[in-house]
Amino acid sequence: MEYKNNSDINMVLLQWVMLYRCRMRLGPGSAFHLLRCVQLRSCSRKGRNRLPLWVRELWAYTRLLMQSLCFNSLTDSDVVFDSVFEPVFWTVDYITRWFGMVFVCLVVILTSSIMVIAYVVLLPLVLNTYTPLWILWHLCYGNWIIVMISFHYYKAAKTLPGGPPKEKNDSPFVSICKKCIMPKPARTHHCGICNRCILKMDHHCPWLNNCVGHFNHRYFFSYCLFMTLGCFYCTISGRNLFLDAYNAHERLKHLDMDKPGVAITGNLGLLVGLLSAAQTNGDTSAPVYTLKDKMINKSIIYMWVLTSTVGVAMGALTIWHGLLISKGETSIERHINKKEAKRMTKQGKIYKNPFNYGKLNNWKVFLGVEKKSHWVTRVLLPSGHPPYGDGMTWDFFPFKQDLIPV
Ligand SMILES: [Zn+2]
Ligand SMILES: [Zn+2]
Repeated sequence: MEYKNNSDINMVLLQWVMLYRCRMRLGPGSAFHLLRCVQLRSCSRKGRNRLPLWVRELWAYTRLLMQSLCFNSLTDSDVVFDSVFEPVFWTVDYITRWFGMVFVCLVVILTSSIMVIAYVVLLPLVLNTYTPLWILWHLCYGNWIIVMISFHYYKAAKTLPGGPPKEKNDSPFVSICKKCIMPKPARTHHCGICNRCILKMDHHCPWLNNCVGHFNHRYFFSYCLFMTLGCFYCTISGRNLFLDAYNAHERLKHLDMDKPGVAITGNLGLLVGLLSAAQTNGDTSAPVYTLKDKMINKSIIYMWVLTSTVGVAMGALTIWHGLLISKGETSIERHINKKEAKRMTKQGKIYKNPFNYGKLNNWKVFLGVEKKSHWVTRVLLPSGHPPYGDGMTWDFFPFKQDLIPV
């Protein structure tokens, strides 16, 4: 084709530039930048770029932001998903962090309320009505459970779960944390709420306001176990008392509360000291139902409902964590191992968890039991012994020769 003059050539060039501009929206980065230079020079010549500096800077920043998200060769669906939902994750983490103290206060208040009811309401009943052997049992078991729950909750909440060292070291690692930009040893994971890497991380517990990791995993599990035992103890031993209180409450709902002469029968009468032995044995003169009796009634119902529901929930949690410990894995590793086992099955291979040493050995490692007496001193009594190893290497067990990897 032959061009007649300069204006024709300019028109063709302009058409090429227009075509380029359209294509470059989808095209590679280098061509895009070349076109951008042409465009900028053209724009500056035409005087179209007269917007205030701050607007141009904001626009340039927004463009750069979008390009860093969309034009990066490493960008995949996970990165886009993380970027889009980052504000949501941040909000959830922030709320969980803030509510951590509220949850801890809630646990302390609810547990203390049950203890108060046990000492103020139940203890007089036990002392008045039970045989010396039963009194001894309730005093020993009840106080032992309270000590174990309080000790393990305090230790689980206050003990740091442990993190990899920040300074340079020779410890082996398996990957790099994208958030901390630090090497991650085996079994270490990043917690978004604590905003750091946690050794042998199990999960972040809002009820402890702490991560459950290498150094406090045993305290967490023992707390769950003893809380379950304590709740079931209250539920089973207080069942008859609850039924009496509930029936009395239901009956009294239909009567005039202010009218004296409403009779209380059964254990409750003995409990509040309103009924003498003669009255419980058939004397028809009815005692007065006071506000104090009403409060006792309600506190027994409250205690039974709370301990039975918490007992079921904590029981399920304890069983779940017990199963994981038996298999030598944490809550996070459960998902990783499941995925890995699936992947290897497709390849016709069998996946073996490298941290599974058999059920009994897993429990010994977890609880720190080295000899038989430790089952009592380290498991059934409060014990502050540290877990085996530093949480970064997993080849340290004192009875390793007995361990048979499964
Ligand atoms: Zn990290
Ligand atoms: Zn955490």
